[in-house]
Amino acid sequence: MSSPRIALLGFMLEANQFAPVTSGDDFRKSCYYVGQDILTEASKNAPRLPAEINGFIRDMNAAGDWQPVPIVVTNVEPGGPADAGFVAETLEKMRRMLVEAGPLDAIYLCNHGAMTATDSTDPDGAYYAMAREVVGPNVPIVATVDLHANISDRMVDSVEAIISYRTNPHVDQAERAAEAAQLIRWLLAGGKLSKTFIRMPIVAPSVRLLTAAGPYADLINRGQAEKPAGVRVVSVVGGFAWGDTPENGLAILTYGEPGAETDAEALANKLAQQSWAERERFNVTLTSLGEAIAQAKARGEDSALPALCIADVADNPGGGGRGNTTDVLESLIAAEVQDALLGLFVDPLVASQCHSAGVGASIDVTFNRDNADGHGRAVPAKVEILGLSDGQIVGRRGIVAGRTIDLGPSACVRLNGITIVVVSRRIQAADPAFFEAFGLAIPAFRTVVLKSRGHFRAGFDIFFDNSQIIEVDALGLTNPMLSRFPFARLPRPVYPLDQNTTWTAPAS
Ligand SMILES: [Zn+2]
Repeated sequence: MSSPRIALLGFMLEANQFAPVTSGDDFRKSCYYVGQDILTEASKNAPRLPAEINGFIRDMNAAGDWQPVPIVVTNVEPGGPADAGFVAETLEKMRRMLVEAGPLDAIYLCNHGAMTATDSTDPDGAYYAMAREVVGPNVPIVATVDLHANISDRMVDSVEAIISYRTNPHVDQAERAAEAAQLIRWLLAGGKLSKTFIRMPIVAPSVRLLTAAGPYADLINRGQAEKPAGVRVVSVVGGFAWGDTPENGLAILTYGEPGAETDAEALANKLAQQSWAERERFNVTLTSLGEAIAQAKARGEDSALPALCIADVADNPGGGGRGNTTDVLESLIAAEVQDALLGLFVDPLVASQCHSAGVGASIDVTFNRDNADGHGRAVPAKVEILGLSDGQIVGRRGIVAGRTIDLGPSACVRLNGITIVVVSRRIQAADPAFFEAFGLAIPAFRTVVLKSRGHFRAGFDIFFDNSQIIEVDALGLTNPMLSRFPFARLPRPVYPLDQNTTWTAPAS
């Protein structure tokens, strides 16, 4: 095919069932591009698009002539289930534009894979099925997903292949999209794929789905290392526990060329068996709040101790957390911890009060006055305003490197020995640039508290090795202790929530 016409679509939300609804406005304010505007944005230096879109376009451009057919790309920070009206309207808009675009040779679906809506646990399946219905059975469709996706049968059945990230923190979005582009070219040349899909009764919290080391890393690495010739794609998808859907469960997907069907199936079975044999490694232990604060206090008093990084994993905006819980902040204040830095604290009201008062002023504020999710108490404090920013930051390290991120009106304030970066938009503290924008140097602090579950590790690895990082057990919508959440739709029993879960390998 000399110049294939390939449609580009993106629809991405990681939905936490326990967080407030994600509205159409939330999507539009975060990332919502239609038609040619997608390509215009993609051509910028630090685009606001998911990194997959550029990765796909770059790989297609490098391979030769093609015609991108941009449809709709929308993406939003993880939150609660998507408003059903917005999902219906977006899928209808995509359908209409795909039909109007005329004959297509292939479709690339950029997707997170853990979206839910207020009326459905599987809008991603509806998204994939919509694309399939428009083009019929003979046009290749390939999707990429986050490794925190909850994979439904409808998703698997609707597309040729689902390619999942292999890194957590996620730094391979562009690479996986390039893999999708290469697969689409192979399919356009007449390639055909077998599919094997195994969903395990394992729903692991995200802190146990890191890929530098651990049970999940071992599965991903083995899938790649033992991939036989002819097996084109191996996706090991960890899932997103707080989605609370019947589709939850560690998913293994393998795709084989003709002749490699049995090898692909055998590899999937091996990985499934390994995940089950090593399931105890998915259990979680966290550091208690009291112990974490004691360690921070010691750091402020003894400069010989190595600096400490406390991950406030329970209040991770990257998993639907609100970024405004006060457990850690309140305890730092009470213990009079010195030389501590905390962020990003999401509080538009405090940020706006700081902007009104100006740099250098000392004002009375109340952190988390509006107590958005009941997980954080209001904390009154007198703060000194050290710096102000409009919050337009270009990421420098890790998952948002090279992309423009909008933190909204932001402020840097000091409260005794604690420096706090307050922002207006919910973004996880994944990049040191969010702090450096205020002239703060990370090594100047003895304790750094980050509201992030794990993505900070790719941004702050130059400051902290793993032995300096602790995951604190505090209140929040993304606390890894899953037994504390009122799950209603997960398939039960499921490990590690139900320690007595059983599983039998499928007959080969
Ligand atoms: Zn993810």
